[in-house]
Amino acid sequence: MKNHITGRTRLAGIIGWPLEHTLSPAMHNAAYEALGLDWVYVPLPVRDDSDLIRVVGAVRALPFVGFNVTMPYKQAILDICDEVATLARVAGAVNTVHREGDRLIGYNTDGRGLVDSLAAEAEFDPKDKVVVVIGAGGAAGAATLSLILAKASKVTILNRTTERAEALVERAASHARDTDLEAGPFPEGAVESIRTADLVINATPMGMRRSDPSPIPKEWLRPGQVVADMIYSAQSTPLVTAARAAGATAVDGLGMLVSQGATALEIWSGGTETVAPRGVMRKAAEDALTETALQEVGEEE
Ligand code: NAP
Repeated sequence: MKNHITGRTRLAGIIGWPLEHTLSPAMHNAAYEALGLDWVYVPLPVRDDSDLIRVVGAVRALPFVGFNVTMPYKQAILDICDEVATLARVAGAVNTVHREGDRLIGYNTDGRGLVDSLAAEAEFDPKDKVVVVIGAGGAAGAATLSLILAKASKVTILNRTTERAEALVERAASHARDTDLEAGPFPEGAVESIRTADLVINATPMGMRRSDPSPIPKEWLRPGQVVADMIYSAQSTPLVTAARAAGATAVDGLGMLVSQGATALEIWSGGTETVAPRGVMRKAAEDALTETALQEVGEEE
């Protein structure tokens, strides 16, 4: 943890609400320390949309290199940025903002985080693969765009509100030359596309509470499949437990979190050759997650 703030220290941070359990400050500050960067990463809890505008105004006036954005502002920030990268615009969400002079440029590094974590943790390359994404929010949008870039052969987006899945397919369609896109409801009629997919992704909050059932029943999954849960927890998530019981390879969202943060750091470095220390970031995130879980047990007692 950085304990030597100077008059030249640059700022980074995360805007969201609530932020009590965010792992990003621990992960980023460990990386800046390892890289010898005179930066510090702080939580920026923002209560509502009008505070969001004020806080972003303050960020423009302060020596920020950039900031992350998390729930519930990943959509609202789109209209506040001066420019938004195409991937983030089509995904419908920004999670990383880079400050270039007076301008704020919005990116989405979540999809890249997902694809990188699948390569690192499951040796999975989406090229020519059939994928099912559950959910149609910002994270599902980012995943879909990254799967298109990775040349998946088919991506089926299944969502509780089918119209949102259809709207995502419509936005992404003109970018999908090598990838067939399809939308459908969830969970009704989802079993066949889930069972036949090479990769199944949970991009919903289902499974966040320890008492939640798996968003996908074990019986719908099979050996040989890869299952990615964007949720993470100090224990196994309900979906990861179900997938492993079915003989599938499962990864949770911690690797995605680390990789999206690493890509954000590299963007803020502004095209220098800086490579984020992913191992250091992973260790810091794991330690912070364990600490948060212990605090929660303490609070429950
Ligand atoms: P979002 O924009 O709010 O979208 C949430 C999606 O989940 C929507 O499609 C919603 O369906 C669906 N959903 C919510 N509750 C549901 C339920 N009870 N049953 C069925 N569907 C439900 O959220 P997001 O930003 O995309 O994030 C989705 C999840 O991914 C969050 O839990 C977030 O923490 C996680 N995430 C993780 C990482 C990481 O680095 N590991 C990064 C980004 C996001 P409707 O359209 O019907 O409302």
